[in-house]
Amino acid sequence: MLHQAVLLAETIDYLLNDPHGTYVDCTLGGGGHLRRLAENLEPDACLIGIDKDLDILEQTRKTLSFPNIKLVHGDFRRINDILDSMKIDQVHGIMMDLGVSSFQLDEAERGFSFHEDAALDMRMNREQSLSARDVVNEYSEDDLTSILFRYGEEKYARSISRAIVNRRKQSPIESTMELVEIIQTSVPASYRREKHPARKTFQALRIEVNGELDALLEVLPQALDRLYPGGRLCVITFHSLEDRIVKKFMQEKARSCICPPELPVCVCDHHAELEILSRKPIIASKEESASNPRSRSAKLRAVRKL
Ligand SMILES: [Zn+2]
Repeated sequence: MLHQAVLLAETIDYLLNDPHGTYVDCTLGGGGHLRRLAENLEPDACLIGIDKDLDILEQTRKTLSFPNIKLVHGDFRRINDILDSMKIDQVHGIMMDLGVSSFQLDEAERGFSFHEDAALDMRMNREQSLSARDVVNEYSEDDLTSILFRYGEEKYARSISRAIVNRRKQSPIESTMELVEIIQTSVPASYRREKHPARKTFQALRIEVNGELDALLEVLPQALDRLYPGGRLCVITFHSLEDRIVKKFMQEKARSCICPPELPVCVCDHHAELEILSRKPIIASKEESASNPRSRSAKLRAVRKL
């Protein structure tokens, strides 16, 4: 099943600024954003789609045709190297959708799902060595606790980590359902009746395995750097940690003065690098939220480079 792109019309509205321009989708996913963009561009425009998943690239290659399209297997945090290798200096628009694609979530055998039994894996790039199995079986109790707390905002991080460490002393934890069972027995019954008790732990492991927050911190300045003046950057996030990183980056780069407030005149000579196009993040319409539940947590932030 193909991943349904979220905030499609909204993203293209903000992103598009020159119908002959060059646009980069850093997280191709199901290709929905790139496809919609292609419909709005002239044939001499250039489209670049990056993904670290070969299956996704192959799907897009089969289903999307555009005269000048380049599909690249790579990690978006290396966008500088990727554009350099194509001898492209600056572009008109860059977008990224940070949700794990539904395509991958559908693939229960890769261990992203807490509803189906599979080997603990969660690697989006299968050529990478670190998997969820390594994190669960090899990280110290303190490191596990800190990951679950920071990336999952899991309030029972400590007791879940302790239970994991106790269990793996007997034998390694190999499967998603073993992990789900450990989580279920280490949280209070009342918590088990809320959302699925394994949800936050699985989110945290996915972020850790794939270095998602580090990737975001690395890619944002590179993306801004690669835009022409007037070029647009659109970022879609799905949880508060990511949105906070994006918001902070955009706000810092939008400030024209970074002098301490007690100074009577500006002495910093600092210039704003971008203009924020929507003060509040853009969220899915009622219609979209009803038809695609995944869109309910999506937030789009868009800026224009000065
Ligand atoms: Zn100043």
